[in-house]
Amino acid sequence: MMNDQKEQIRDFLDMAAAYLSGGYLMEKTDRYVYNRNIQPSFIAGISAEKSAGSESAPQSDKFTHDVETLKSQSDIHQQNLPDTLEKIALEVHSCHACRLCEERKNAVPGEGVPRPLVLVAGEGPGADEDQTGRPFVGRAGQLLDKMLASIGLSREKNCFIANIVKCRPPRNRDPSPDEIAACAGFIQRQIKLLKPLVVLSAGRISASALLQTTVQITRIRGIWKEYCGIPLLPVFHPSYLLRDESQKTLAWEDMKSLCRHLVDLNEDYKNETSELRAARNI
Ligand code: SF4
Repeated sequence: MMNDQKEQIRDFLDMAAAYLSGGYLMEKTDRYVYNRNIQPSFIAGISAEKSAGSESAPQSDKFTHDVETLKSQSDIHQQNLPDTLEKIALEVHSCHACRLCEERKNAVPGEGVPRPLVLVAGEGPGADEDQTGRPFVGRAGQLLDKMLASIGLSREKNCFIANIVKCRPPRNRDPSPDEIAACAGFIQRQIKLLKPLVVLSAGRISASALLQTTVQITRIRGIWKEYCGIPLLPVFHPSYLLRDESQKTLAWEDMKSLCRHLVDLNEDYKNETSELRAARNI
């Protein structure tokens, strides 16, 4: 028997075992993984109609992840439905795939609009995010919101904000490579579903994880890269800018670069921001 045939049979058996025992199938990398830690009551139950609707939802339909609402929609038999943001959020909230689950108050899947112009990928939740379950809500988050607003972007209108790891590393330490690897499937799936025009990668951890290489953010910030065919711009993390205000000039150059890129990619954004760009000389 050929190796790829053996792989197929193993995948099939994994799926069958999970289905029969009420477990959960989590698509990580390109294989199904049986996550034994997830309780059946947490399994996502988004109707087929809702799933299809989320694909074509207008930008104003902001995605938020009200956990209780998601749980109330749970239906164990719907685990084979197409992937959705809600399904990912529910998996994140019940995930125990790495040690970061041990001290979290809330997991933080992300929030914003479907089909965003920009997906902002940060590193991981901090204390405020852990407390609220929302991404980028502390001082760094407020700075991020201001930076986005300066070029006509916001999480309410045209962005989605997420992190590489969805649970807070204790004492705000860097997430370790195994924690990043354990969580990578979530942001990969979010990007695949959201299809942003651009990924804004905030900080070294985010850029390294998405570009799959060890990078120094000071060397690559402002230099356009690519993630799975999507333009990716590495930038300083807002918390770094709070610590070193002298870098804000470079950060503004990066935002202008992002703005110009979006103008080339999206006619609506170009028209909506024409006055703003003129006023700011972009
Ligand atoms: S950080 Fe990611 S992989 Fe680790 S427990 Fe949280 S959701 Fe799961």
